[in-house]
Amino acid sequence: MSDGTENKGDGLIRCDACPVLCRIREGRTGACDRYANRAGKLVRTDPMVVAQKVLDENGEMVPFATAARGWDGSLISQAPTFLTGIGATTTYPDYKPAPFIVASQQDGVDMVTVVSEGVFSYCGVKVKIDTDAYIGPEPAAIRVDGEQVGHVTTAEYGSQMLAIGGVRHLTGGSKKEGAVTCDAMLRLCNKEPVEMTIDGGAAVVVQAGRPPVINGVKEERMRVGCGSATVGIFAPQWHGHVDEVIVVDDHITAVLTEHQAGRFLDMPLAGVKVRGRRSTPGRYFQVADHGAGWGGTDVSDPLDIIEKIDPKTAWAGQRMLMVSTTGQDAAYFVLDEALRPVEAEMPPEVRIVVDRIGENCEPALCSVLFMGGAGGSLRAGVTVNPVRLTRSVRRALTRVTCGGAPVYVWPGGGITLMVDVGEMPDRSFGYVPTPALVAPIEFTVRRDDYLELGGYADRIRPLDAVLANAAEVRSVPWHEHHPWPYDLGHRD
Ligand code: SF4
Repeated sequence: MSDGTENKGDGLIRCDACPVLCRIREGRTGACDRYANRAGKLVRTDPMVVAQKVLDENGEMVPFATAARGWDGSLISQAPTFLTGIGATTTYPDYKPAPFIVASQQDGVDMVTVVSEGVFSYCGVKVKIDTDAYIGPEPAAIRVDGEQVGHVTTAEYGSQMLAIGGVRHLTGGSKKEGAVTCDAMLRLCNKEPVEMTIDGGAAVVVQAGRPPVINGVKEERMRVGCGSATVGIFAPQWHGHVDEVIVVDDHITAVLTEHQAGRFLDMPLAGVKVRGRRSTPGRYFQVADHGAGWGGTDVSDPLDIIEKIDPKTAWAGQRMLMVSTTGQDAAYFVLDEALRPVEAEMPPEVRIVVDRIGENCEPALCSVLFMGGAGGSLRAGVTVNPVRLTRSVRRALTRVTCGGAPVYVWPGGGITLMVDVGEMPDRSFGYVPTPALVAPIEFTVRRDDYLELGGYADRIRPLDAVLANAAEVRSVPWHEHHPWPYDLGHRD
């Protein structure tokens, strides 16, 4: 059996960690920079990463944020240690066992973790951008360097959503489209900023765990809710201080005195009619176009959304607040004798509630979730009988993690997983030019279950032996809120 490398006496080593089969000259790296020829030996260029629990003198786990401060990456002896797939090497397509099949014990039960760097030909990235701002229509093309890398997908509550990557962009278009898509996904997954443009929409800079930058403006706040929800939350606090509140929102603009919240408080109708399509009393769709103005509309003067003021209902001296769903835009008006709104200084008791809207907004962030299919040949690195691994994952007998981070496995067939890259160690991802992303993956299972599902018994090695043979090991602190992978719970 080949060891995966080949030297025909010409000083070149063949790497067979992916189908590109690079022939690497001494002192050089292969096309993906993950493997190099050092003194005639094929080596992985990055250290293997372990995640370790740091315990204090009372045996309590030191929280991640505290442990991470001043962490230098050295291995801590005696600390509970989990070998991640980062830097573990690949065997793709998996015609041989995974690079590491590690034995351990948990509460007296023998456990096994199969550790690998999976090559994900089928993979994508889902991005959630907390913003009211209009970034583009569904399903507009998202471009990086002019190449389409994804599309705008269904908006969620307070957030715009992007679907990036996927096999169609990776391999179904031009070579450049595939390479640009792969690079954009790699940078997103490694928590780096990526600038994208959306057809018919905005230029957006996305970085995991950071605020989005939309058309050059950093978003600060995620809206407290839609206009209707904002009215519902704050109506009792406005009552008595204003006669009307209009919450301007690209989704649902709300008019307090018409809204159920105002009816409940017995507020008299104020006679201010807004534009758009009335959905239910006090709730209006499409009061303006999408844009970078108030509440994700294109409105910079809120009075533009007022269609008319009914003289039969409104009265001179009527006090009206107009506010966005983040509280960032707000204006206070009093109707004059001709029932024209005249801007006036906002009374302090109204200002308090406007400020409270802002206080109740969470920080706007970008969240990046990697999604990939581990249900193909990758399973052959774990077992000779791949469907048993799928069933074992389904029955929660095998826990899947990525760089130690918990994953969500979709129901139905295959092992289609999603993981928040923000929960994974930095620089967890790599790529191969096929093109595809490389992501760490670990399968942890009781030893007896592993053998039953057709695992490679003769390849199981203790962690100490694995680490002793590693060229370089980097340690990262364990997140205290991640389930410890070995702890699968007891069962009879
Ligand atoms: S691209 Fe990377 S993994 Fe693939 S053969 Fe070349 S060096 Fe090896």
